[in-house]
Amino acid sequence: MDMEKIGKKIKISGFAACILVLTLYISACAPKKEIQKVQKEFFALDTQIILTAYGDDRAKEALAEAQEKIYELENVFSTVKEDGETAIINKNSGGKLSEPLLYLAERAIEISRDTEGAFNPMILPVVKLWGFSDKNYRVPEDNEIKSALLLTDLSWVRLDKKSSEIYFDKKGMGIDFGGIAKGYVSSVIMDIYRKNGIESGVVNLGGNVEVLNEKPDGSSYNIGIRSPYDGMLGALSVKDKAVITSGGYERYFEKDKVRYHHIINPNTGYPAESGLISVTIVSKDGVLADALSTALFVMGKDKAVTYWKKNGGEFDIILMDGNDNIYISEGIVRDFKLEGNYRLEVIKKEAE
Ligand code: FAD
Ligand code: MG
Repeated sequence: MDMEKIGKKIKISGFAACILVLTLYISACAPKKEIQKVQKEFFALDTQIILTAYGDDRAKEALAEAQEKIYELENVFSTVKEDGETAIINKNSGGKLSEPLLYLAERAIEISRDTEGAFNPMILPVVKLWGFSDKNYRVPEDNEIKSALLLTDLSWVRLDKKSSEIYFDKKGMGIDFGGIAKGYVSSVIMDIYRKNGIESGVVNLGGNVEVLNEKPDGSSYNIGIRSPYDGMLGALSVKDKAVITSGGYERYFEKDKVRYHHIINPNTGYPAESGLISVTIVSKDGVLADALSTALFVMGKDKAVTYWKKNGGEFDIILMDGNDNIYISEGIVRDFKLEGNYRLEVIKKEAE
């Protein structure tokens, strides 16, 4: 090899080294994709909604997409929006179901069977009678309640998965997703977050909360659980879970000094008086958490605990009764911080 060629080689490899150094320098100096926190607050589903997401520059788009999706699903599941899918199906005693409606109708029916009717998505005629759908509250007569209850029987609902159709055998029957749709909506938003590369986030639908992963610093999210009185009954630290609460203290009216709330006992047609005043369900499955928060409120403490012992692999519970007792399942006790002057009892699967 002559000296000229060697010189050229050195020159070329010197040039390559320069390019490499330059590339490294440029990539080191290039602005890093910053993780930013974005938030959106608006009113929908008859409640205040707060969306929070941590991500790169797609986070803003993710929240815009999530907000659009919430408006879209509100139209699908609302029983009062006359041109919405659910309202049309109820008016016609059935019809073709879109994908989200089919999915949620199936889940609602399955959970209804599983809870022996404590959760009953066909409760709409009774809910309407009390004025809870449109806020035209009134106390119905006993005979009106009896007649409305006759229209809540699940065995008169025919759901055909293959053709995506649902039919009600009696006129006046209607499906009500009010006790389950928010859990579904929050799970759908989690999917939108994931699809947009969001690393961490929260959906708060008026106290129904679902969180994606953990906070960007690796710690858990701290979710406050409202007391039926003032303030908080406690705070729960969670990662990647839904925390959904039902209580009689949010939607109610008073007549002759009696308070009537919106969670109906499907056996009596009256607001459930089970002794429980707040039920929180913690689960990876938002739909299950929402439906069970309503169902276990109807069941009362003993039945709720029995139900949890049988099915508790999928969820945890925090129950509060009217005597300031709080019952918490053992799986989340270490993540719970009691606030207020309440008595805490841990519920265990196996008696010690
Ligand atoms: P949850 O305990 O989760 O649910 C209680 C609700 O479930 C009741 O309000 C009733 O609808 C139903 N329910 C009662 N008893 C039972 C039972 N035993 N089994 C099954 N279900 C039962 N409110 C308005 O005033 N106007 C609106 O336009 C309106 N639109 C809505 C649209 C959507 C898509 C949703 C999800 C809610 C809407 N709401 C509206 C609010 C709705 O009427 C309920 O008040 C709300 O969903 C109750 O949620 P919760 O978490 O407080 O209680
Ligand atoms: Mg519910």
